[in-house]
Amino acid sequence: MYKTILVPIDMAHVAEGKAIIDVAIDHASEGARIILLYVVEEVPNWAAISIPTEIIDKSLKAAHDELKAIANAAGRRMEVEVRSGHSYNTILDVAEEKGADMVIIASHRPGLQDYFLGSTAAKVVRHAKCSVLVVR
Ligand code: ADP
Repeated sequence: MYKTILVPIDMAHVAEGKAIIDVAIDHASEGARIILLYVVEEVPNWAAISIPTEIIDKSLKAAHDELKAIANAAGRRMEVEVRSGHSYNTILDVAEEKGADMVIIASHRPGLQDYFLGSTAAKVVRHAKCSVLVVR
């Protein structure tokens, strides 16, 4: 059983995200923190100049609200984090920042079963300092 579980969720594949939340609940000790994390891919600098900051802030807020709704539907208290950055680096940074003792991640996006591990999942498995559970 784990005390601080980080669950990275790709909001483009919510059904898969809900499945890994169930796995997180099964592995959580009593009173454990479950933190749902969505990383919004950072807009490159050259493109960011032409996008008003309100638009970026609005999309981060919309993602946060959507993730919060998923957390509320899970029937257990969960924290929600939306960060902007590169997915695997940010997942690793948040895992350390929150003192996660487990990251639970899906193996790849749906429909890519031929791949043993997706690109984000592979990097998290290789570089995380805590345990990583890969859900296939
Ligand atoms: P693929 O390379 O097939 O797209 P990934 O390795 O990117 O597969 O995705 C596997 C899992 O990694 C996702 O189900 C999710 O758990 C996590 N993940 C991927 N992208 C993100 C993201 N932007 N924010 C949070 N988690 C993500």
